[in-house]
Amino acid sequence: MNDHELAGYLAQCAGDELLKLRTDENPRSTNPWYLRDQGDLISHKLLSDQLHKHRPHDHVLSEEGVDDISRVEADRVWIIDPLDGSQDYPYPESAEWAVHIALIESGNIKAGAVACPSLGRCHVTGSDTDIAPRKNVEPLIVSNRWNTYQASSIAQIIGAEITCCGSAGVKTSLVVSGDADVYIHGSGLYEWDACAPVAVARDVGLVAFQLDGSEFQFNKERPVVRGLVISRPEFAEAIREALIP
Ligand SMILES: [Mg+2]
Repeated sequence: MNDHELAGYLAQCAGDELLKLRTDENPRSTNPWYLRDQGDLISHKLLSDQLHKHRPHDHVLSEEGVDDISRVEADRVWIIDPLDGSQDYPYPESAEWAVHIALIESGNIKAGAVACPSLGRCHVTGSDTDIAPRKNVEPLIVSNRWNTYQASSIAQIIGAEITCCGSAGVKTSLVVSGDADVYIHGSGLYEWDACAPVAVARDVGLVAFQLDGSEFQFNKERPVVRGLVISRPEFAEAIREALIP
């Protein structure tokens, strides 16, 4: 398996395990706290074990792992969010959760995958897929739930409607699949929230940058990013101009 295939395979495996856990007959499966903790745990364990098995020399930065800071000096680092959207994951009616896997090599994104198991989607880099056709007549922005200030100002500029949903991976999937035109995340994120979404978005020809218009830098000592914009190319310049002070 090359790095793209491994990312896709692992995102799919972790997604399958998470789907199974949610439909388990275990009586505790109705307890959201239990499901969140178990989901984080089993997905993190599966991904770190498998990465160790397939790429024993690579480093891993996981939302659910202990951060071994020697990764900052490493050439190859996998940045993973075993369960993105854990708030929504416990609820069977919600599809707003994902698995994120990305590989940084020599400071650049090398491969990535975003699985959205409840949507039956898994976006993987290196598959030569083109940007999907737009599905709406009017532009549509998808935003995070708690900070829609930037989304509203951009919506005015490009004449778009706004919709909100959970999970950075699912919001990215909506743009990759042509359901939405732009994803704006108006607050800071961790690298594991943003890295795999940026990987799969750029792979199909979408544009991605931080909220201040700047380029991402991944595998930093403090692994945070300054918000996230993922856009179809035709809206990107207007958005970048509006956001840069
Ligand atoms: Mg998570």
